[in-house]
Amino acid sequence: VQRAINVMEDSPLFNAGKGAVFTHDGKNELDAAIMDGKTKMAGAVAGVTTIKNPINAAYAVMTKSPHVLMISNGAELFAKEQGLVMVEPSYFKTDFRWQQLQNALKDEKITLDHNGKSASLLLPPKNYDYKYGTVGAVALDKDGNLAAGTSTGGMTNKRYGRVGDSPIIGAGTYADNNTVAVSATGTGEMFIRTSTAYNIAAQVKYKNTPLKEAAQNALDEVKNINGSGGVIVLDKNGNYTMSFNTEGMYRGTIGNDGKAIVSIYEQ
Ligand code: ASP
Repeated sequence: VQRAINVMEDSPLFNAGKGAVFTHDGKNELDAAIMDGKTKMAGAVAGVTTIKNPINAAYAVMTKSPHVLMISNGAELFAKEQGLVMVEPSYFKTDFRWQQLQNALKDEKITLDHNGKSASLLLPPKNYDYKYGTVGAVALDKDGNLAAGTSTGGMTNKRYGRVGDSPIIGAGTYADNNTVAVSATGTGEMFIRTSTAYNIAAQVKYKNTPLKEAAQNALDEVKNINGSGGVIVLDKNGNYTMSFNTEGMYRGTIGNDGKAIVSIYEQ
C-alpha cells in the first residue's frame, strides 16, 4: 500500500505529494493515513508541508510511535527524526494546481458576491473536472491480511489548518482483517460527518452487506448532505468494489494473475 502510494505521491498528476492542490493562502498542506487490518494499528499525519512522502510519515507514526495522528510541525519534526526525506515547500508546486487555485478564488468571489453562501466553497472550481485526485490503495496479502492507505493535498482553496477525511481513521481510511480495507476520496467534510470508511466496515461486520451495496449506502449518506466522491473497498476474500457518485474516478486493480486493469468512467 505504501509503495503504490509513493508512486502516485511522486507523480505530479495526482493530488498527493508533488502536484498537491493549494490552500486559500497558496500553500500545500498534506494529509495521509495508513492502517494495518491484522493488528488494527494505524498512523496518520495532517497539515504537513515539508515531508516528501506523507504516507511514509504515516507509516512511521504507526510503527515507531505510540500515537495515531500527528500534525503540522510536530509531525515534521518526528519525520525528520525518523530519517524521512524532507523537501522545501516549493517542491510540491505545479502550475496546473496553482491555476486551479486562481480559478477557485475567482469563483469564490463571484459566489460570495452573489449569495454569501460559504458551503459552496467546498465545491471544486467550475472548470474543474469533478474527478478528485486524492490517492489511495487497499491490498490483501497471501495470508489474508488487509491494509489501506490514503494521501492527499486536500481540497483546493481550503482554509488554514483544515484537515480532511483522509487522515481520519474511520472516515477516509480504515482496515480490519475481519471486514474490509477502505480508502476514500471526495468532499472530506461530509466523509468525516458520516464516518464513511467505518460505515462500510460496520455494514459488512454487523449485517454482512455485500460490498457494492455497503459502499453505495455510505456514498448515499454523503450525497444526502451534499457531498460527493468515491471509495475503493476490498475484503479478505479478494472481493472488491470501486464505487463513486462523481463523473469518474481514476482507478486500477492488479491480482495474483499479474493482470493490471485501469478505468476512469463507468462502474
Ligand atoms: N478527501 C480529500 C479531502 O477532503 C480530498 C479529495 O479526495 O480530493 O481532503
